[in-house]
Amino acid sequence: MKLIVMSDLGAKPTRVGTLLNNNRPAGVHHIVNIANNHGVDAEAIDYWKDWPEELLIESIVSFFGDDPTCWISLSGSIDGSSTEAFKELVVKIKKHCPVKVMLGGYRVTVGDSSWVDLAFMGRCTNIFTDWLEGKDLDQYVHSTNPLTYKNPDKIIRETAVSVVPKDGDFWSPRETMSLEMALGCKFNCSFCGYDYRGNKNSVFVDKELLTETMQTAYDKFGIKHFYLADDTMNEIDDKLELLGDVCEDLTFEPDLMGFIRLDVLGGQPHQMELIKRANIKSMFFGIESFSTNVTKLIRKGGKPEKNMDTLAKIRDEHPDIFTYGNFIIGLTGDCEKDIRYYAEKVVNEQLLTSAGCNTLRLYQGLDNTEIMSDIDLNPKKFGYEVIGTDRNWPELGYSSQSWANDWTSSTEAGRITSWLDDYYDKNLQSRYTGHEFQSIKSCLPGLSHAEYNMALPAHNVRRTKLVQKYIKQKSAYLIG
Ligand code: SF4
Repeated sequence: MKLIVMSDLGAKPTRVGTLLNNNRPAGVHHIVNIANNHGVDAEAIDYWKDWPEELLIESIVSFFGDDPTCWISLSGSIDGSSTEAFKELVVKIKKHCPVKVMLGGYRVTVGDSSWVDLAFMGRCTNIFTDWLEGKDLDQYVHSTNPLTYKNPDKIIRETAVSVVPKDGDFWSPRETMSLEMALGCKFNCSFCGYDYRGNKNSVFVDKELLTETMQTAYDKFGIKHFYLADDTMNEIDDKLELLGDVCEDLTFEPDLMGFIRLDVLGGQPHQMELIKRANIKSMFFGIESFSTNVTKLIRKGGKPEKNMDTLAKIRDEHPDIFTYGNFIIGLTGDCEKDIRYYAEKVVNEQLLTSAGCNTLRLYQGLDNTEIMSDIDLNPKKFGYEVIGTDRNWPELGYSSQSWANDWTSSTEAGRITSWLDDYYDKNLQSRYTGHEFQSIKSCLPGLSHAEYNMALPAHNVRRTKLVQKYIKQKSAYLIG
């Protein structure tokens, strides 16, 4: 059996312009690794939309050769937006060889699914492993058109992802690699769509494996920059301690970016030392709102003064750390006056390196209810009245709803979002989110936070070159 797993790495709009992605998804390499360990000749193809189509098809067809059992798979992004383009590619490949098609991601296919043989929904490499071993999968059948497998909701049957990079993947030192410390978050914020939220028994990555992953990434490919994919890194100390222990064993100093809960950090100030020890140099805070009326309702804590004190302390004591704060506009209990008041404080005191915001969206029609937030599932309970459809993605099978609550509506909240986002953009040091910043920094290390605002064109040039080099090396490797 032969298997190719393609990763979906698109361009990302930012405030500065289009950012070309240089962060390969770890999930694809995790799947390939599992397949390899089961004796399958499997390969990942990253950046597939950047490949010249003829070369891509030639590489895939050559790799499959005359093997009687060939599978091609797409590990889709969370919105499933690349599935149509993948379908068109598959049609062309099928003219050369009788390949079977497997999809993985958080959404099922919508519309015509006759071209798909098998799909895995959500995190389910345990099911993929059972499938490779020929086990009975009846208990995991989610739907049958196409045949789709899914794990039971909220039960962690997976392991955290850490994949030792291999020679045939031709990584560049200018790429960012994703790691995961643990699965599960003990909190249950009402707006959160993380599938393993409300889980008190986190499943941790193996320490030796994580050390080997990071050290090999550096030794073989010169990679020093990493994303922590965990939805929160500091809900318990153990994740930070584990990462700190690993970092102490490495022969180089890594540079990591992760999601940190500000209110937890404020209540557990000793965590700042753990964060430093873990080499987390960029922090993404999902602050959502400073107002106490709101934080109680969304099940996040922290008084506004305390949260601001924590930010001021980081600013003063760790000016080298990049801090990004994200806010949700339209949450029940908030008001425009408070939003403006706290935004002015953030700007006047330069409490964050960068900040941004988005309007609360209420999603409906997600077949995978596990990734729906409690607000999506029961808007009324949280003070929202659904008043119509705001946006519809028929090709993806879901929509977002217009809503009204105690103080605003989705339309009005959208107006405040535009203002606030622009205000932060113009008045804080950096124009990037934490992820954007980490991407550019890995491509162009050594600039100041503010200097990166001008560095996007140079990033894109370097990223284009590294992807061209990757395509040249990977295609030669697959064609043989
Ligand atoms: S928003 Fe963060 S802290 Fe809250 S439940 Fe989700 S992952 Fe946990």
